[in-house]
Amino acid sequence: MSDFSKFKAAMFDFDGTVTVPGNYEPSQEMADALVKLTRKMPIAFCTGRQLESFEDHGLETLIKEIPKAELEHFFENLVLIAENGSIGYKFNSSLDEFEEFYRVNWPDEIIGREELMQALDHRIKDFGRVYFRKHRVVVVIRTNEHESGDFQAISRCSDQIYEVCKEFMAEILPDYERFFHIGNSGIGVIICPAIGDKNRGIQEFGKYLVGNRGIEFSKNFKEILVAGDRPEEGGNDFYFLDGKYGTPFTVGNLCPKNDLLEPVIDIDGERLTHDKATIFLISQMTS
Ligand SMILES: [Mg+2]
Repeated sequence: MSDFSKFKAAMFDFDGTVTVPGNYEPSQEMADALVKLTRKMPIAFCTGRQLESFEDHGLETLIKEIPKAELEHFFENLVLIAENGSIGYKFNSSLDEFEEFYRVNWPDEIIGREELMQALDHRIKDFGRVYFRKHRVVVVIRTNEHESGDFQAISRCSDQIYEVCKEFMAEILPDYERFFHIGNSGIGVIICPAIGDKNRGIQEFGKYLVGNRGIEFSKNFKEILVAGDRPEEGGNDFYFLDGKYGTPFTVGNLCPKNDLLEPVIDIDGERLTHDKATIFLISQMTS
């Protein structure tokens, strides 16, 4: 596996990477590992969620699980890349809130965002619903099984929504991928501006660390460890983990075509996945 001593920052997808699939909150063990890591380097979460979903389901748990004395330091070293890479937030400790530091625009010249949401909501109703009004840039479709707790059913619905979205976008514009990316997160589907995918998130996080922390990186931020669980084509970590920026690890699906992408193998040669793999990666960077 990689030489972990080279990493100067780390970036994690949230659902299925920091959390167990099907569970929307991180564990105490994960919170402890993340606190330990932020003592050593800045971290970012790069998630399809919007700010409020991260704050209510994830951050709130982390705040409860992180010792009070560590909280300030934790937040100083945390960046949130939300909406699949379309918006970045840093924490402003004097205001006690997240502050936006970049946002990409929706390509209105192809189709208006509201118009797309209305039309899609009708098209996908057998499998899911458009999640209206919470996101600022991206369009998110949740499965009809969202609250069921049945991860298999959620994942199946998510796959079907992905297929319908692809078909629909191709009707609008055959080469829609120049303007939009569609990502299947396994718990829903995200349509984001092509310039606002998770690879944008890595670059913005890197630039932020150069500008605000004086951290130096080699070309394409190879000293940022990047981990996610959906690197396959169509997955919402496809552009996150394609190896163009950062050093990518998969804690979920394998992607044989991508030879820059490493699975996570423990000291006994066992392959680890999801939160266990992420905790192992963190242990390698903190030991
Ligand atoms: Mg994920």
